[in-house]
Amino acid sequence: MTRAAVVGAGVAGLTCGVVLADAGFDVTLFAREIRATTSAVAAAIWYPYHIEPKRKVERWARASYREFERLARVRGSGVSMVDVFGEQLPVPLIETPIYLPWLRRNLRIHRRTIRDLAALARDFDVVVNCAGLGARELCGDSLLQPGRGVVLKTANPGIVRHMVRIDRDELTYVLSRTDDVVLGGTDDASESRDVPPELAAAIYARCAAVEPRLPAEFAIDVGFRPLRSAVRLERERGTRIVHNYGHGGAGFTVSWGCARDVLRIAKTVAPAPRREGRRDGAPTAAGTAARRRSAGPRRSTPVSRRRR
Ligand SMILES: Cc1cc2nc3c(=O)[nH]c(=O)nc-3n(C[C@H](O)[C@H](O)[C@H](O)COP(=O)(O)OP(=O)(O)OC[C@H]3O[C@@H](n4cnc5c(N)ncnc54)[C@H](O)[C@@H]3O)c2cc1C
Repeated sequence: MTRAAVVGAGVAGLTCGVVLADAGFDVTLFAREIRATTSAVAAAIWYPYHIEPKRKVERWARASYREFERLARVRGSGVSMVDVFGEQLPVPLIETPIYLPWLRRNLRIHRRTIRDLAALARDFDVVVNCAGLGARELCGDSLLQPGRGVVLKTANPGIVRHMVRIDRDELTYVLSRTDDVVLGGTDDASESRDVPPELAAAIYARCAAVEPRLPAEFAIDVGFRPLRSAVRLERERGTRIVHNYGHGGAGFTVSWGCARDVLRIAKTVAPAPRREGRRDGAPTAAGTAARRRSAGPRRSTPVSRRRR
């Protein structure tokens, strides 16, 4: 069985994990944080925001749109098609509190900080690096910069509308989800989690002007977009390491397209037998059971077997 390690349990790592497992790889994810990720802070909608390069992003985003459109018909995925921009096409709304656990549900994930990708590659046939902003340290990548996003979350008193307005210096959005409403936002260069009350109040005021039914109480959440001049999606020359990070403000928007490119490259590093997936975005139960049966004695890795 071809063994793949994926570093990171944000949307990039989880989607790669699902796509690789579906293609027959024996996948293990390693993540410093499994729940407290940037991906968990996003609302999120499909929209190619603050991400480069344009041509590839268009291709990845189009492939992901089609996949989310299909997932909107899969019960329990947390994906729906909504009207955000008025006249235009509906876009996928990906409810991260539902979608991320749904992606995780058939994956083997260990909580572990990886400090050396080359060392990990000695234990696996292929290593996929989806560390997000963590790749700054892990790969010494100084092109990665944080784009801080501050959002407010309120209870949902029955609001079902969504809106996004992207002005030159200002980002305003109200996205209602099953259990809350997400109000945004910012995209600034600060690396601090401290949010001045006046900044939160300004976000709330912009959103309340659009949706007056918003409850007055809110929680504040902060995430750091992994901004880069271009997404890094490539095999590192002469190694078994495939990088997939730097998706800026659009990690969900490009997630399935990028994961499929990662799979294509991973197959050139370590060919895997093709398995038919269940086409709901998750590995088949039969495939997972077969992988567990055929895994046999594993090369030992110094990690706990705790599942999340
Ligand atoms: C407020 C906000 C709103 C957003 N809205 C949207 C939206 O509407 N639509 C959209 O498409 N995108 C949106 N984004 C952007 C999107 O959230 C990011 O592009 C995406 O989450 C990046 O995913 P990721 O998996 O690369 O990184 P992350 O979610 O940050 O995950 C990185 C993972 O790698 C792990 N890791 C890091 N270093 C190591 C290490 N050394 N060893 C082991 N594990 C490590 C982390 O613990 C984590 O598990 C938004 C972002 C913010 C902040």
